[in-house]
Amino acid sequence: MNFNTVHPALEFVCPCCGEKLTSGVGFCVGAVLRHNYQMRDELIWQGAECRPQSQPRLGNIKTVGYFNCDNPACSSWTDCFPEVQYALVIVEDNRITGVESFAVPADAEVAEFAIIEMA
Ligand SMILES: [Zn+2]
Repeated sequence: MNFNTVHPALEFVCPCCGEKLTSGVGFCVGAVLRHNYQMRDELIWQGAECRPQSQPRLGNIKTVGYFNCDNPACSSWTDCFPEVQYALVIVEDNRITGVESFAVPADAEVAEFAIIEMA
């Protein structure tokens, strides 16, 4: 599956170990074309496959993203590879303004790359 990546370098710490994440967070809004974004970049909407199909009116989106912690000493590592963890990618006025840790509600299934809020 295609997805985009945001690199929240120095702005996001792993909830398991507290280390700054140096890898990217995969997410799936805007044109889905393996774009690489930095924080505060504007989302691109030119492409055959956009999610949602067009930019929301206010350009505000909260969506689930995924990351692997880079720290081999992190408790999220099992054997030689970290488990996938969830993050919340926040888009305001069509710019990526935040990446936060996201605790999956225990009583709910979260759809892959779920869009939590949109306006
Ligand atoms: Zn970690």
